[in-house]
Amino acid sequence: MADNYSKGVSQVPGAITIHAGPEFSLKYWDEADEMVAEYLLDAAAEWIGSNSKIVHVHRWRYSKPLRLHPEPYLAISDPAPLIFAGDAFAGPRVEGAALSGLAAAEWLL
Ligand SMILES: Cc1cc2nc3c(=O)[nH]c(=O)nc-3n(C[C@H](O)[C@H](O)[C@H](O)COP(=O)(O)OP(=O)(O)OC[C@H]3O[C@@H](n4cnc5c(N)ncnc54)[C@H](O)[C@@H]3O)c2cc1C
Repeated sequence: MADNYSKGVSQVPGAITIHAGPEFSLKYWDEADEMVAEYLLDAAAEWIGSNSKIVHVHRWRYSKPLRLHPEPYLAISDPAPLIFAGDAFAGPRVEGAALSGLAAAEWLL
């Protein structure tokens, strides 16, 4: 859960983002937005402290790699240089995706 004002990405206080984990997301993927919002707001009620005015639910189907490749990239030399890189190679976050891209670029160079 993140306070967007504290993070500096919202101009006004009171905008929060609640991320569901993989288990919750799989379980409630087909549930109506209102129900998903209710479950998450209930879980976060202790920290929010007031009723929400506007709620938006967004689903990222491919938000997290399920299986990680053990190397920072996967290169195929034949028939052409073909390199796979991203957060499934060096850790499921921005840092992992960037490190994977850098490692792939070094291989290419
Ligand atoms: C809600 C959410 C919050 C997150 N918060 C954080 C955070 O706070 N900190 C953090 O470090 N990480 C966070 N992450 C994870 C982070 O976003 C990813 O690890 C990172 O974006 C992965 O980068 P990537 O380049 O590997 O893949 P992506 O960023 O997914 O980029 C893949 C790109 O390929 C494009 N693409 C897909 N298929 C095709 C196709 N067939 N043809 C052409 N293009 C295609 C997609 O449109 C996309 O632009 C978050 C992820 C989500 C979903």
